[in-house]
Amino acid sequence: MLPRYLSTTFFILLICFPAFSSAGPGKNAPKSVEGGYAMVVLPDTQLYAWKHQKTFLEQTGWIAENAKHYNIKCVLHVGDIVQNNNDQEWKIAAGAMAVLNGRVPSVMCLGNHDLGPGGNASTRETLLSKYFPVAEAEKEPTFGGVYDKEPKKLDNYYRLFEAGGRKWLVMALEFGPRNDVVRWAGEVAAKHPDRSVFLVTHAYMASKGNVRFNRNGGRSQGAAPHNYGVARHPDGFHDGEDLWQKLVKKYPNFAMVISGHVCFSALRTDKTEGGTQVHQMLCDYQQAPNGGSGYLRLMQFLPDGVTVRVEDYSPTLDQASDKPLSKFDLKLAPVTETEKQR
Ligand SMILES: [Zn+2]
Repeated sequence: MLPRYLSTTFFILLICFPAFSSAGPGKNAPKSVEGGYAMVVLPDTQLYAWKHQKTFLEQTGWIAENAKHYNIKCVLHVGDIVQNNNDQEWKIAAGAMAVLNGRVPSVMCLGNHDLGPGGNASTRETLLSKYFPVAEAEKEPTFGGVYDKEPKKLDNYYRLFEAGGRKWLVMALEFGPRNDVVRWAGEVAAKHPDRSVFLVTHAYMASKGNVRFNRNGGRSQGAAPHNYGVARHPDGFHDGEDLWQKLVKKYPNFAMVISGHVCFSALRTDKTEGGTQVHQMLCDYQQAPNGGSGYLRLMQFLPDGVTVRVEDYSPTLDQASDKPLSKFDLKLAPVTETEKQR
């Protein structure tokens, strides 16, 4: 029998999406690209889990309903899944994400609001693995592994899948990853040189200037990760710049990074030490009306194998985003070229 919170979810889903129909993605939704595949980014859902449950369900319902239409291979949640790290909100998040079960795998990273008493990020305690158990994640064919020192926690993990001739490794790292987690992440990237790595972590890009969070960034970097309690723990803490220096730039197979935490969008591209390009993006809509207005990010990978079409769209409003950097194309290195460099 389904846990009660899941039964409730499906009941609400039936109200929101009669017959879970194939009504199509919405008149103003991004046009699907023939022969391509997609990944969808879920920006910070903390205010939906707290106050706007229906919007969270509209997002995952839209993804489930259109998984075939866009050939969606994976959902990436950029963290701050909940607001106050309590059972009530985690149940809502688990119910909303359960809509994707059996349809699209997801990779979720921890944000500051997912940690500590009341989500204050003074400790790394989180209810994530209670509602998203490792034992369940392990059953899925795309599951790669979790942080080797914490086998019972889903705080840091990765998935493996292949699409459009490219082998992907999508990795979720906790808020301000600890020193030994960064060690593990580097080992995972090094063990999979034939895979393009997509890093999902909560606080990497800052909201202004298309720059990474940097502990020397001063007041211009609102909500700087180093200001949270866990940043003072002895096991270490990495913001965006720390992750770039100690992890991402060292491995030529890192291809993309996505983060949340601050609104709305940012983008920068840098070269690793091996000369390969890494596209680093921010996507977070929590300051839009009603906790984010349901905006999500559709990334379509075109059949040319190199173009990524990025479009932010709200199924709740059936509306494309009008924010800067909410629609753009990126180019990945061709798979053959990338493999030659390894
Ligand atoms: Zn945050």
